[in-house]
Amino acid sequence: MARLTIDSIRKEYDRTVAVEDVSLTVDDGEILGLLGPSGCGKTTTLRTVAGFETPTDGHVRFDDEDMTHVPPENRNIGLVFQTYALFDNMTVRDNVAFGLKMRGLDQSERRERADELLRLLGIEALANRNPQTLSGGQQQRVGLARALAIEPRVLLLDEPMTGLDAKLKRRLRREVGELLADLGVTALYVTHDQAEAMAMCDRIAVMNDGHVEQVGTPEDVYERPANEFVANFVGTANVFSGTVVDGSLELGFTSIPVDGDSPDGPTTVVARPEAFSVDRTGDVEATILDCTYQGESVRATASLSDETRVTLRLPGSQFSPDDEVALTFDAASLHLTESDRLHPGEIGASERGG
Ligand code: ATP
Repeated sequence: MARLTIDSIRKEYDRTVAVEDVSLTVDDGEILGLLGPSGCGKTTTLRTVAGFETPTDGHVRFDDEDMTHVPPENRNIGLVFQTYALFDNMTVRDNVAFGLKMRGLDQSERRERADELLRLLGIEALANRNPQTLSGGQQQRVGLARALAIEPRVLLLDEPMTGLDAKLKRRLRREVGELLADLGVTALYVTHDQAEAMAMCDRIAVMNDGHVEQVGTPEDVYERPANEFVANFVGTANVFSGTVVDGSLELGFTSIPVDGDSPDGPTTVVARPEAFSVDRTGDVEATILDCTYQGESVRATASLSDETRVTLRLPGSQFSPDDEVALTFDAASLHLTESDRLHPGEIGASERGG
């Protein structure tokens, strides 16, 4: 497969700037996620790579070849969309073999290649079925098999799991993620679901309002978010303002020793819900405000003595609203960043995405 380079892309529609100065590289065999809220420019970026849109400025390259003005049909890309767009008048096998027919392979080669992909995706038993008779998850696999059959230089996936139930999504994430990694597929994976991006992608580009806020591994964007937008979009974040003085982080409501590498001065701190342990005794007094049972854990909001609100993750239902508790901060789980990179607004937490 190819290395994909998106170089300083800008796309304007009339007066709307959909994408501005987006530069990304997807290495050969890498899956890069485009993650962000509705309208942030994910699909526009993907459509520019596919050739359905011509950028107002900037370039798209596959390896060293400039593809910016190459028509979509000559780019050798595989496409998987949220609507599977399978041909209902053909069997599953013929759907998968369709692109190969267009490329002039003879019938036995087409059949062999289609059956190989159906086997790889675990759906060889469906080869003679009509796509209309398949479940959403089965159709999704057929769509992926069809996209991969042509051995694309780059695979583009746009919200491919939308519409599938939560359990099937989890299974497909694992299976499809492993398959794409085994096949060494270079892929751009558009989603607004952070759990999906974290599970499927080697790296994630977090987009907001037409530009890229941060590119990094799932661990980077979760544990070391570049700014408050990323901290809040990728999971739940508590964002505090503080000051580091002589190896101690002063947060107003508590002081926490931090490692010697943290420079003195104002700082902004991102603390994930799991960065606190909650007990009857501990460092910082708090009152539980509400608890939401989430199956594997309980999400709680608590108020500190100065009214700061924090979002916590509790292992079980041991606390109830109005309980007086105490929080202990796990200093190693706090992410400190320079104040000018993070701009805490209302302190608290927000949750978006999956
Ligand atoms: P979603 O998750 O909702 O699909 P997205 O992140 O993929 O959103 P885009 O579809 O890339 O976002 O849209 C980015 C911006 O560009 C939006 O403000 C959108 O309204 C605008 N836009 C997209 N396509 C067009 C178009 N053909 N004409 C005018 N504006 C457009």
